[in-house]
Amino acid sequence: MTGLELRGIGKAFGQTTVLHKVDLAVRPGEFLALLGPSGCGKSTLMRIVAGIEAPDHGQVLIGGSELTQAHPAARNVAMVFQNYALYPHLTAAQNIAVPLAMRRLSAWQRMPLLGGLLPGARAIRRAIAQDVARVAEPLGLAHLLARKPAQLSGGQRQRVALARAVVRDPSVFLLDEPLSNLDAALRSSTRREIVEIHRRTGAATLYVTHDQAEALTMADRVAVMLAGRILQCGTPREVYEQPADIRVARFLGDPA
Ligand code: ADP
Ligand code: MG
Repeated sequence: MTGLELRGIGKAFGQTTVLHKVDLAVRPGEFLALLGPSGCGKSTLMRIVAGIEAPDHGQVLIGGSELTQAHPAARNVAMVFQNYALYPHLTAAQNIAVPLAMRRLSAWQRMPLLGGLLPGARAIRRAIAQDVARVAEPLGLAHLLARKPAQLSGGQRQRVALARAVVRDPSVFLLDEPLSNLDAALRSSTRREIVEIHRRTGAATLYVTHDQAEALTMADRVAVMLAGRILQCGTPREVYEQPADIRVARFLGDPA
């Protein structure tokens, strides 16, 4: 079954159409890079998958279910943003635990009468701490969990954001230019970490970038987007060696 499937997604802002009938499928366990220049509509498409933005046309299917209108929290989709979006007043551990705490909270709200029967607060805290440790350890964050974002480097903050995204075992993992705020040295090590996290989650991963090197080295398949249309989708080799048309060839030849 398909992890993520987009059918005929269209979106306009005012008179400007930014997405033209986009079709795309990402299988569970697959790493697909959405590659295109700035302004071509990549982030808009990601926001539609995450449920932060509604499409004008088309359908979003996750795990085979049509969830086009579903609330973001009902999609089992995790998204990592370019600017990390961590809570400055919380520690790394608390930031990572936010999605877990929200889930607990909504469970309690749904069954207030059963609240007294649920495990005690200490047991809940212990379970959350175990989940946080499980995702923090492979990211090299174990010794940094008590720090607040201001006490972490850019690369460490990015890893906290990644940990927070995967802690709920998402079936779809969205990354929107996650390396663009890192320096060159950190970028290459973080590339490997992201592929590693993807492998461990088995999620359908959609990775947005304008950087060809990232797309071609990290992804199982690359979808090339220009001006709101996906012009080609194939393995890095297919896309690089046989561009589907002159626009794709021009973009690959002149990424700037
Ligand atoms: P990318 O992520 O590929 O750089 P975006 O999806 O952010 O592209 O933007 C695609 C186009 O849509 C751009 O021209 C951008 O200015 C426009 N756009 C994005 N969001 C909005 C919005 N909320 N209102 C109006 N225009 C928008
Ligand atoms: Mg963008």
